[in-house]
Amino acid sequence: MAAQSVEEVNCLALVAAAGIEDEQAAEKLRMRVAITVGPGSACEAMAIYTRQLLERTLQVVDNSPADVEVVIGNRTPVHTGLVIGVVVNHDSVTFASGHAASLDSGVQVEPPKLLLKIAACYLAGHVIAKSIASDRFEGIPSPFVVSAKTLGFDQTDFSRKVVFDSTSVLVGAGGVANGFLWALEDLDVSGRLYVCDPKSVSDSNLNRCLYFSQEDLNAPKVEVLAKKALQGKVELIPHHGEFRTLVKQQGRVRRAYTTVDSRRIRRSVRGELPLEILDASTTDISEVVVFSERQPTTMACLSCIYAHIPAETQREQHIADALGVNLGDVQQSIINHEIAEKLARKHPTLVAAQIRGTAFDSLFRQMCGAGTLLNGPAKQALAPLGFISNLAGCLLALELLRFEYADTWIDVPNYMALDPWRPPHRRARLSKAAKSDCEFCSKPESRDVLNTVWRDVLP
Ligand SMILES: [Zn+2]
Repeated sequence: MAAQSVEEVNCLALVAAAGIEDEQAAEKLRMRVAITVGPGSACEAMAIYTRQLLERTLQVVDNSPADVEVVIGNRTPVHTGLVIGVVVNHDSVTFASGHAASLDSGVQVEPPKLLLKIAACYLAGHVIAKSIASDRFEGIPSPFVVSAKTLGFDQTDFSRKVVFDSTSVLVGAGGVANGFLWALEDLDVSGRLYVCDPKSVSDSNLNRCLYFSQEDLNAPKVEVLAKKALQGKVELIPHHGEFRTLVKQQGRVRRAYTTVDSRRIRRSVRGELPLEILDASTTDISEVVVFSERQPTTMACLSCIYAHIPAETQREQHIADALGVNLGDVQQSIINHEIAEKLARKHPTLVAAQIRGTAFDSLFRQMCGAGTLLNGPAKQALAPLGFISNLAGCLLALELLRFEYADTWIDVPNYMALDPWRPPHRRARLSKAAKSDCEFCSKPESRDVLNTVWRDVLP
């Protein structure tokens, strides 16, 4: 099986994002971006984050000609291509085409690092959108403002303290989880946190997972994160397996941070009865969604938000047909020993030992070439671009700050959906009600079991 390179993964995502042809997408990805930085530690930090994100999609150059130049802070552009000027203030970051240094009054108070990371995600997307210049991106506002206020935060919120205890689990160790841990690096966090994922690092992860590099290929994702993320702050305890098996081992899990890429797995996490769930997801390359719940509640649970939809089965059926297995096999999400053998018999290029423990979605992505994936139910199998997964992870970290310090749980907004290509706005936060036909919370027996498991802590 030919592994899917970072370029191919990005290419497919761009084709879908901009509605352009494969070859054109490949050409756009060869765009060279230079980052020119003005004085000040906030500008320097902003440049480092933007570079980390952009390097996973475009070429970031230092001393050679550039097609696009990002000028952060008060500096004169040094290249001749398109210029995107960036102004960093204590509570916002603004970017616009053209050199914007005249607007820069200098940063008096240091902006929170997490705000800069969120702004860097949007800036990376903005650079990609500007480089591609497709109709899909018309009407994106300029100047583009990312402010703490529109995200619902003020300066002090970012300095809140979070202590993880070992009854919390990060579910999933992919792009969103990487972004979440990357965001936590700059918060006042400590303690111990489980991280579970049955999968190993593959080529197709490298376009978005900031902690993963070539040398980590084939290593369990959780082991790599435990080794590299939050050093000296939070001890990450790896569980190379599914959430279900970790719950079995622990007895119960109080809080789950869900970052997996499947609606079905989200519902299965709810079914394992955590008391609290904080969730972040991406819908291909068009949307980032953050959700949280604390039981008992009369508002939506995770299974209400990710209720079964017909498109889900259509997509699973499509994958089953393409790979020559049963729908039931695909619905298990992860390829077990028996199915790996079956797949290897059907597809001579596959080696059972290598695909065991990987997700059907990932295998499907790897087996399809550019252009064959882009219509109908398969579209959701596309990997998001790096800045989108990392934005989802950063917003999950913000949600955690809000969740830990909320003083009421009645009718507070529990859901936020944002377009990663456009500035965040206040109307994104919503209150989602429970679904009357939810497979979890509409059933009295689910509530009974939850109440039994948590009887010592529930009112
Ligand atoms: Zn529900």
